[in-house]
Amino acid sequence: MLVDTHCHLDFEDFADDRKDILARAKLAGVRQFVTIGIDLPSSRRAIALAEDNEDIYASVGIHPHNARVLSSEDVQDLLNLGSKSQVVAYGEIGLDFFRNYQAPSVQVTCMKAQLDLARQLGLPVVIHDREAHQKVFQILQENKIWEIGGAMHCFSGDWSFAKKCLDLGLYLSIAGPVTFAKAKILQEVAQNCPLDRLLLESDAPFLAPVPKRGKRNQPAFLVYTAEKIASLRKLSLEDVASQTSSNAQRLFRLPPPAEPTSHSEDLTTEVTKHTKENI
Ligand SMILES: [Zn+2]
Ligand SMILES: [Zn+2]
Repeated sequence: MLVDTHCHLDFEDFADDRKDILARAKLAGVRQFVTIGIDLPSSRRAIALAEDNEDIYASVGIHPHNARVLSSEDVQDLLNLGSKSQVVAYGEIGLDFFRNYQAPSVQVTCMKAQLDLARQLGLPVVIHDREAHQKVFQILQENKIWEIGGAMHCFSGDWSFAKKCLDLGLYLSIAGPVTFAKAKILQEVAQNCPLDRLLLESDAPFLAPVPKRGKRNQPAFLVYTAEKIASLRKLSLEDVASQTSSNAQRLFRLPPPAEPTSHSEDLTTEVTKHTKENI
């Protein structure tokens, strides 16, 4: 089994076929999902999805693209959402100096404020870091992130930055780009990261792995990422799957996945028929 530790199942991209997408994922062996909030509305939608599906868990938080100085109402809303039982992580939070949709100083303020909220809630943090390695590292270190725990989502640094993050007690979450031919730096990270600190994520609907590159991503494609890491590390797919799944369960304190019911078997047959052409 695989755990997709970072996807955006609430996005419009899945509005028409979300049920199919989940059924295909389960067929591919992806048994648990953490769907990630990027602002207050998407955090609420993530929780609603988790309430409706027993293998979906939610995270809440404000993405650096949406960063703002939090009002006291924001803080109260985030604390309320974060204390729901379906919520297993705080995020995604962090810095994105590639897009810079919000001023860097606002991003920094928003990230620090939310690290405090994660600490209050006792939730591990999902960190978004794009072209902001040094500043992200500095903030995480100052905030003693090892006391909170968390994952560097869609890790994009080199091995020397990876080692610094590992020293802070963080997990490294590897996404589809590891399958790209030119991604030698990321492949080196995926190869060297201690197996007990490695997570897999789709980041669906973004960043589909080869051979689906350029298409809308979906959790079922996580298998390609897992296969690539298995081949880089000369391990079996099963070994990578079971190790990364138990890491995800440890970090996010997930219970074992629900056993497939006869109802979902019916759905599975239906979906197999339906998707033979295009999966
Ligand atoms: Zn992100
Ligand atoms: Zn994301």
